[in-house]
Amino acid sequence: MDAAAPRVPQVHLIETIHGGSLFVADGSRLFGAGADLYARLEAAVIAGEQEITALLEKVGLGGSPLIDDAPLALPAIHALSLAIAQKCNLGCTYCYAQQGEFGGAGKNMPLEEATRAVELLVNGAEEGARLNLAFLGGEPLVNRSVLQAATRYAAQLAERRGNPITFSITTNGTLLAPADAEFFEAHGFAVTISLDGPREAHNLLRPFKSGKPSFDAILERVRPLLAMQRRMQVSARVTVTPANLELRRTLDEFIDLGFHSVGFSPMLSSPGGNGEMQTKDLETMLGEMIGCGREFERRTLQGERYPFANMVNAMREIGRGTHRPYPCGAGAGYLGVSADGELSACHRFVGDPAGAMGTLNHGVDRKRQAEWLTERHVHRQEPCRSCWARYLCGGGCHHEVIHRGRPACDYIRGWLHYCLEAWLRLPRPVIDGLSRDAKVHSSMPA
Ligand code: SF4
Ligand code: SF4
Repeated sequence: MDAAAPRVPQVHLIETIHGGSLFVADGSRLFGAGADLYARLEAAVIAGEQEITALLEKVGLGGSPLIDDAPLALPAIHALSLAIAQKCNLGCTYCYAQQGEFGGAGKNMPLEEATRAVELLVNGAEEGARLNLAFLGGEPLVNRSVLQAATRYAAQLAERRGNPITFSITTNGTLLAPADAEFFEAHGFAVTISLDGPREAHNLLRPFKSGKPSFDAILERVRPLLAMQRRMQVSARVTVTPANLELRRTLDEFIDLGFHSVGFSPMLSSPGGNGEMQTKDLETMLGEMIGCGREFERRTLQGERYPFANMVNAMREIGRGTHRPYPCGAGAGYLGVSADGELSACHRFVGDPAGAMGTLNHGVDRKRQAEWLTERHVHRQEPCRSCWARYLCGGGCHHEVIHRGRPACDYIRGWLHYCLEAWLRLPRPVIDGLSRDAKVHSSMPA
C-alpha cells in the first residue's frame, strides 16, 4: 500500500524489473522512463504539483486535460437490471437487499412491468446499440416465468429493431433446474453464481433462511450448467468479508470446478454493517488478491488459462487506457428497475431515495439524472480530485460511497499499483492474447 500512496494528482511512478515507468493520470497513459528521466520525475514528485506540471510540459506530456469538469451528456439507456423478484430463500448475513426484500414486503415483478421495462430499454435504444438486460433480486429464479417471458420478448423486440442484445443473471443457484440451463444456453446468458468461498466459509455467510448450509445444494444444481456452457458463461462472484479471506484457495477451487471466471468484491457497505471490511481486512485482502495475481502471471506466461476475473479485467482496461470520470454506468446508460416499476441508478439503489431515477409509468427522470451525473463526477469527489488513480477508479462505487464513504482507497490504489506493475511485466503478446470474453459486472478496482 505504501508504494501506491498518493503523492501528486497528475502522475504515479512505478518501478519493475524492467526499470522505471510513469503513469499519467490524465488519459491513463503509461510510459517507460530512462534512469535519468525517472530520477527527475522522482525529484519533481517530491517537490510538488507545480514542479511535476512543469516537467510534464517539458517532456511533451502537458496540454489540456482529456477529462474536464463537464458531466456526461445524458446518454441513451443501454442496460437495465430488473429486480424481478424482491424475495429470497437465503438468509445471507450481509445482504444489501435485506434478504432480498430491500426493507419492504417480498414481491415479484408482474409481467406487465417487465414488459414495459423491456420496451424502455429496446424502444429507446440508439440504432445498432448493444443492449444488456440483467436479472437480479432477491433471487430472480423465484419469478422464473416472468424472467423467461421478458427474455423472449426482449430478444424478439431487439432483433426486430436490429439491436444486438445480451442477457445476464445473478443467482444464488439454489433454485436452478435442468430446464434453466437449457434456457440460459439458448439465449447465451452470462450467469453469475454468488458463492462466498470454500464450503465452510460459504455456509457461514450464505445459509438458507432456515439456517441450513447451502453450499452442497448449490453445487449440485450448478454442475449441469458448468458442463453445458457454450454460448452461456457461468461465473462465480465472491463477496469478500472478514470471514472468507482465503481468496487463493477459493479461486483455485472454483476454477477447478469449471467456472468460466471467478471474481472478488470486498463488502464495504451492508444495511446493518454486518460483514463490512475494515482497514486490517482490506490489507489482508490486498495480499490475497496480489497472491492470486502472481499466480495469474505465472500461469498466463505458461500459456494456461487462469480466469481470475479481476485481473483479466484490469489487464484489458489498462491496455485500453481506460479513463473515465465515473466508476460505472449507474445512473447514466445503466439503470435498475424495482419489482413495482421504480427506476434507480442501479440494482443496489432499488427502494433507496438516494438513487431514485423516475418510474416506468413516468419515464426516466432526466432532471434527476443530469443532477446525478453532475454530482457524481469524480472531479466533485474528495479526496478523489487529488488521487492519481481517479480515472481508473472513477471515485468508487456510488452506493458504497453514499452509504459508507471511502474506506477502501488504500486497497484500491494498492491493487491498481500491482496491476500496473503486472501489465508492465507481462509480454505484450500475452496481454493481447488474454481472453476478450470475461463478462464481469464490476467497477474497475474491484
Ligand atoms: S475512491 Fe478511488 S479515486 Fe477516489 S480517492 Fe479513493 S482510490 Fe482515489
Ligand atoms: S459499482 Fe456500485 S453504483 Fe456502480 S453499478 Fe455497481 S453497485 Fe451500482
